[in-house]
Amino acid sequence: MSLVESSLHASRALRREIVGAGEPYMGSIKKGQHFRIVDLEGNQAVDTLFYRAGTLEERYSAQDTIRAQSNIYLTTGTRLLSNEGRTMLTIVADTCGRHDTLGGACSAESNTVRYALEKRHMHSCRDNFLIALARWGSQHAVGFSKRDLASNINFFMNVPVTPAGKLTFADGISSAGRYVEMRAEMDVTVLISNCPQLNNPCNAYNPTPIELMVWD
Ligand SMILES: [Zn+2]
Repeated sequence: MSLVESSLHASRALRREIVGAGEPYMGSIKKGQHFRIVDLEGNQAVDTLFYRAGTLEERYSAQDTIRAQSNIYLTTGTRLLSNEGRTMLTIVADTCGRHDTLGGACSAESNTVRYALEKRHMHSCRDNFLIALARWGSQHAVGFSKRDLASNINFFMNVPVTPAGKLTFADGISSAGRYVEMRAEMDVTVLISNCPQLNNPCNAYNPTPIELMVWD
């Protein structure tokens, strides 16, 4: 695993926003801008999807991304591809070193299957995605819905795959202040659930805030 730092300084950022523990976020990134996600307190899973700006049809594709780089983990150099095979963003810096795109997002359903029936009502990434999509849709007059959710990225989440092919949710390898930075290769809309999950080690059982930064 090789770690690559960015040469961009936080003080020069065009936009800086905190996403509170367990909260959703949706926003725009222009072609050529750099977009950084900072794990402020460490061990925070950041469930993320990208859409081509102004359309519902073209979006991040885990399958195409994995196939293109012949690797299941995302890090510096990874091109995040769309379902139409185009590069949406390129990861240009990464001080965590490993990000998952197989584990998916937690939901009311997965809470009951993985943990217990009484966990069903607990806040989940899938609900966060739907809340953010509904807000964005009403502000921008677009009709996003459940079927616009695809397999997502879990930034800072450690989901090692065993030699036998088993998916495991392991303790995070991220720590306070680690970040991942991408350059947008097209205008995109980013959808984030700052994972509110309390039942597995992806958040160290303690959801925390993240910071988003954008540079021109
Ligand atoms: Zn989650």
